[in-house]
Amino acid sequence: MQSDGKMAPWKTHDWKVRTLESISPGGGSRLAFTCRSCGRIFNQTTINSRTWAVDSGGVALSDSVTLRWLGESCLRRPADGDEDDRKQLKNSPME
Ligand SMILES: [Zn+2]
Repeated sequence: MQSDGKMAPWKTHDWKVRTLESISPGGGSRLAFTCRSCGRIFNQTTINSRTWAVDSGGVALSDSVTLRWLGESCLRRPADGDEDDRKQLKNSPME
């Protein structure tokens, strides 16, 4: 039984997991988590479980998008603002 009675937002998504590449000699890999329900995609490193949101091409999104997406439960459909969120790339001058 969970202490707070709430499911972590991460666990509400229906993840399809794919290994993208090995990123270090120590054996760490990068994984792609794609939700079958809402279509959001995250990348995660296996070494330290660092997680960030990416667009459909695997480009990192801004930290604010990553934080917000990580805090939201799955809507079971693409959210209205997701297309705009995917334009906020991590390295864009708009951040
Ligand atoms: Zn989802």
